[in-house]
Amino acid sequence: MGLPRFRIGVIEGDGIGPELVEAALTVASAAVEGEAVLAYHQEAGGAKTYAETGEPLSAAALERIRSEYDATLKGPVGLPTVRKPDGTEGGLLGGVLRGGLDAYANVRPIASVPGVRTPMRPDLGPIDYVIVRENTEGLYLSRGLGVGNDHASADHLMMTRHGVERVVHRAFGLARARTGAPADRVRRVTCVDKSNVIRSYAFFRRIFTEIAPEYPDIETDFRYADAAGHDLVHDPGHFDVLVMENFLGDILSDVGAATIGGLGLCPSGNIGDTSAYFEPIHGSAPDLAGQDRANPVSQLLSAAMMLDHLGLAGPAGRVRRAVREVFAGGEVTLDARGRPTCGTRAVAERVRKRLV
Ligand code: ATP
Repeated sequence: MGLPRFRIGVIEGDGIGPELVEAALTVASAAVEGEAVLAYHQEAGGAKTYAETGEPLSAAALERIRSEYDATLKGPVGLPTVRKPDGTEGGLLGGVLRGGLDAYANVRPIASVPGVRTPMRPDLGPIDYVIVRENTEGLYLSRGLGVGNDHASADHLMMTRHGVERVVHRAFGLARARTGAPADRVRRVTCVDKSNVIRSYAFFRRIFTEIAPEYPDIETDFRYADAAGHDLVHDPGHFDVLVMENFLGDILSDVGAATIGGLGLCPSGNIGDTSAYFEPIHGSAPDLAGQDRANPVSQLLSAAMMLDHLGLAGPAGRVRRAVREVFAGGEVTLDARGRPTCGTRAVAERVRKRLV
């Protein structure tokens, strides 16, 4: 009997994207060896593609990602020089992919990597939570649709009952599959909003509160977004799963990234009911492109999330363990700006060698 075969879409992206994706494909293939076959299908997407064709992803590529691939691994995209006539970036794929695939849950794990230096006090203990960011509405629904002239500008923040319900259910489902917050091992979902000021956030909290009783085994918890930013730094061990609107999730996940040692350590999944793609939470860091200096761990861990999504829990776990081992053993160290001192390729090679 042959090994299970998975069709994987690949968007290498811009800036540091190609180096990171190359590293991740090498590690993912090595991790599944003997258990599965990953067939990679490259798709053009991002700023380079926008500059060449006038669109960041073709309709045909989106359709293949939606209906032909089991999952897609995407590198970061966007270049500051590639702009639309309205001044916003032309090469971004968030709106196209998240909306096009209805990938409504942006799952962003924030977990300490022992051995990595962080700005946190050591007595705060390990960090291990997941931010579930609503991905298809909220403030970013206004992407490209704001109105304005030289004197004023406005964007709308919209939430729908359907949109909030499904992402809240996803957050509670995730909490059920986890082992609770590091500080007290309580399974907990924290609702993050600004319901004290903005009506749409009050709507989000109301729906969260309606759904919570369906999960009596999970503790519920509330934070205003500003207080959440404070507590993610002050008391990170309290958090297990946090669910929030799109824009808040974008910002607070960067806060979380800083607490574990940098953006280069943070993966994510964009997961709908029928399609999913996986990518680092950071941008394309054009300042590092092509120099073998970026940290590929965000992309390696995104590949591990993809393997989990495909049902390949063994290989996914091996990638995560190998990443932990290279840092814990001091084989890989990061400089003060989160860049591996040994270079991008060497990190991937050291992780690959530890896959057993
Ligand atoms: P976006 O809005 O698309 O997330 P951004 O403008 O916030 O992008 P990033 O591209 O995320 O910016 O990069 C911010 C800084 O973080 C960069 O200057 C870069 O040096 C650093 N950085 C980002 N990713 C990595 C990485 N994988 N390894 C090391 N440093 C990184």
